[in-house]
Amino acid sequence: MCKVTETKFNSLLEVSRIANDEIACNKLFAHWRWNGKPFCPHCNHSEKIYTFKDGVYYKCSECRKKFTVKVGTVFEGSNVKLGKWLLGIYLATSHKKGISSHQLSRDIEVTQKTAWFMLHRIRLIIRTKSFNQPLDGIIEVDESYIGGKEKNKHLSKRVKGTQGRSVSTKAPVLGMVKRGGDIIVQYVKDTKGKTIQPIIGKNVSAGSTIMSDEWWGYNGLSENYSHYIIKHGKGQYVDGIVHTNTIEGFWSLFKRGVHGIYHWTSKKHLQAYLNEFEFRYNTRNMNASSRMALAMTNSEGERLKYEELIKNN
Ligand SMILES: [Zn+2]
Repeated sequence: MCKVTETKFNSLLEVSRIANDEIACNKLFAHWRWNGKPFCPHCNHSEKIYTFKDGVYYKCSECRKKFTVKVGTVFEGSNVKLGKWLLGIYLATSHKKGISSHQLSRDIEVTQKTAWFMLHRIRLIIRTKSFNQPLDGIIEVDESYIGGKEKNKHLSKRVKGTQGRSVSTKAPVLGMVKRGGDIIVQYVKDTKGKTIQPIIGKNVSAGSTIMSDEWWGYNGLSENYSHYIIKHGKGQYVDGIVHTNTIEGFWSLFKRGVHGIYHWTSKKHLQAYLNEFEFRYNTRNMNASSRMALAMTNSEGERLKYEELIKNN
């Protein structure tokens, strides 16, 4: 068996080799989660933990309870083997536009319902908490609308600054991206200044340079930032370093993904899809094993209940 602590992989074939060995998967996940120092999920004790020979079970010397590495993570209580989770996370995080539950179901041989549930759990754990430090440097800020009719979306973009920005069928989203760095995207209730500027204030360090279009919701940003505006309404798209092409590229990828792979998603799940695309973007320079280690070490915390997910759907 390979030494899991040295396991690096960067292709589906390499992930598959590990995924086929459930014990190796348990060891790999234990390595990522505990880094050689298991702790008891029942009482948090970590001084003396017995490891069973099978490589899967542990026992706490304090509370005497047995556990596996899945206990206390979103994988707990799931009948899906860790190997399939590993493959699912690989497929969901390495395909640029994501993967549908139908495709995942066929790829890893689970029912579509299971695949759908897995993908939602995966989106839960790939919230990029660790990235969400304020951005600094040159930041492109842009708002966009997801859903609704394509012609209306273009129209809404064209008539910026005038009325007609109904959000009843479309969901407004706000994105902030550091050029060459990380992105933060958020579903917002509207794009008024009083809604979006506190979000920008929280996510972009004061003193940074902000590039945006002329949407009036950005008026006043120059108080805390060097604010440059590209006038899309006047047909301007690039003026030297002043443009919002990076963030717009992200929106178009996101829209192609949502429309092409997931079809329309309810507003309820929109933030989850944004998280997924955000995670892929922010880990674009990582190899697959680092990306997956990052995702899986975020897997602790409240488990998502199936009923919660399908409620009001
Ligand atoms: Zn214990």
